[in-house]
Amino acid sequence: MQTYADFHRRSLVERDAFWAEQAQRIDWQTPPQQICDTSRPPFARWFVGGTTNLCHNAVDRHAAQRPTDRALIWVSTETNQERIYSFAELQAEVECMAAILREQGVGKGDRVLVYMPMIPEAAFAMLACARIGAIHSVVFGGFASGSLATRIEDATPALIVSADAGSRGGKVVPYKPLLDEAIQLSSHKPAKVLMVNRGLAAFEPVAGRDLDYAAARAVLQGTRVPCEWLESNSPSYTLYTSGTTGKPKGVQRDTGGYAVALAASMDYVYGGKAGETYFSTSDIGWVVGHSYIIYGPLIAGMATVMYEGLPIQPDAGVWWSLVERFKVTVMFSAPTAVRVLKKHDPAYLKKYDLSSLRALFLAGEPLDEPTARWISESLGVPIVDNYWQTETGWPLLSVANHIPGVAPMPTRFGSPGVPMFGYDVRLLDENTGLELTGADQKGVLTIRYPLPPGCLQTVWGDDERFVRTYWTGISGQQVYSTFDWGVRDADGYTFILGRTDDVINVAGHRLGTREIEESISSHPAVAEVAVVGVADQLKGQVALAFAVLRDASRAATPELAKALEAEVMKVVDGQLGAVARPARVLFVSVLPKTRSGKLLRRALQAVAEGRDPGDLTTIDDPSALAQAKALLAPAVPA
Ligand code: AMP
Repeated sequence: MQTYADFHRRSLVERDAFWAEQAQRIDWQTPPQQICDTSRPPFARWFVGGTTNLCHNAVDRHAAQRPTDRALIWVSTETNQERIYSFAELQAEVECMAAILREQGVGKGDRVLVYMPMIPEAAFAMLACARIGAIHSVVFGGFASGSLATRIEDATPALIVSADAGSRGGKVVPYKPLLDEAIQLSSHKPAKVLMVNRGLAAFEPVAGRDLDYAAARAVLQGTRVPCEWLESNSPSYTLYTSGTTGKPKGVQRDTGGYAVALAASMDYVYGGKAGETYFSTSDIGWVVGHSYIIYGPLIAGMATVMYEGLPIQPDAGVWWSLVERFKVTVMFSAPTAVRVLKKHDPAYLKKYDLSSLRALFLAGEPLDEPTARWISESLGVPIVDNYWQTETGWPLLSVANHIPGVAPMPTRFGSPGVPMFGYDVRLLDENTGLELTGADQKGVLTIRYPLPPGCLQTVWGDDERFVRTYWTGISGQQVYSTFDWGVRDADGYTFILGRTDDVINVAGHRLGTREIEESISSHPAVAEVAVVGVADQLKGQVALAFAVLRDASRAATPELAKALEAEVMKVVDGQLGAVARPARVLFVSVLPKTRSGKLLRRALQAVAEGRDPGDLTTIDDPSALAQAKALLAPAVPA
């Protein structure tokens, strides 16, 4: 039996042969002429000349062979509804949605922005775009008008698909007012908005712009819309993610490389089989939702569970009830959700028959050992951590235990695992750029050119930003930086030690501290602000804001400070969404800076986490940290 290390080595050394084999997992209308075009580093083009279609591979090819098998299982504990679509039914809905888009003039290369709650129509919209070669850009429903406006501005969509409202914990969250405001804020105006009316929140359609989905569906149901065969490198979607600047980046994905990478990962990493059921608890607004709610499971011919609701509603057994009912074999979630469940009665885990479940995969944020142990012991199945990013589209570190002829590897608590096939991962010294090969050396986790299939092609509309952001950071070397610190143990297992940049991770959601700072600064009372991510037992990290006021008397008493803090939080809620709201906004008279004026965020973070802030010889005003410390004493739990 081969070792995984041998298998991994071959994926790099015999790169083209390896990926040519993997490419056979999907249908091509024209086979690729070249496996990987590396003529223009750091750009890579996969399966050049091959033509294929994501929707064909996710839906049509299964509908042709197993039309009545389940494809999409939708359950909402918010509205107490559920709908199940077979592959044939899913294809019919997607074709109808594609017909609606086509009738509005949407075609190949046009952008369609999807701002939707977790309802089947969101999946139809994504797949319909893939079908006709339009580029979808899904914006997380928890984002508010400011975040949405930035994305509309950057993606310049021809059409937006949205809904009247989402619902969270039984509370209706109207989407339409946020969308209308975002369109108003954006200089780009989409010609059309397709509205799915769930009957949750009344709204006034904009004449000439807003279309009713149900009415259009009634007219176009049954229309056949063939899949558009696309060259493998045609963009399939963009997905915005936070970085170090206030402006989110549109991560752009291709078509063929993405389909192949997902198909390979569904088999080798997740061990999912056609005819079985996959349940990922993420949201379509995040990369996990794209790869492992929609495309991955469907490409593998599995039924996928799309769940709208909280993990604890109607009670903390709801997920397990779905596992039992739909005989889920592979499940995917995030550590924060497990930490939430851990606070509830463990009896919920014993109440249901979970014998179908083979493994639970967790990703999106560091998985702490107590959480991993608790859920592993409670479920009695392997817990598999996997590390990746919006940019990579599929796991970069994990264990791949479903490769025929390859010996399985044990998981190791605290480590997501080893580099996945196709990823040439190196730990580099931040300053010298030299490779760190020994155990326990902390470095920046990087990937050597070329990135494997499925990873980002570029930053939407900004090749230069793609090169500058990801490929030039480490002493001029052309390596892709993940912006994560890592360390390896003697057996090659990598441990992730946090971000090297100003990105924070709140409950598995990636947020840029700069975006939050910009939002807070827009409050007229605020002169200056620093936002840092601080360790939190439940959410991994939370954002803490330290603000200097134009007029300190606005926070002169605890009551005034409390009221102003609430006001500032409301600004963030309104602009970015509650997901980005800081846990606290603390008012200080000065922020810690170097004498040259550079904000010492890391020192602030250290103080907030009760750690030693390190070398402070360059600090301009040492009282700044003392102030922060004094304010935090009662605010931050140990
Ligand atoms: P996102 O692009 O939203 O998926 O966020 C990616 C970032 O989340 C990574 O760069 C890491 O900082 C963090 N992350 C994702 N998965 C893991 C994991 N399994 N362990 C530790 N950190 C993770």
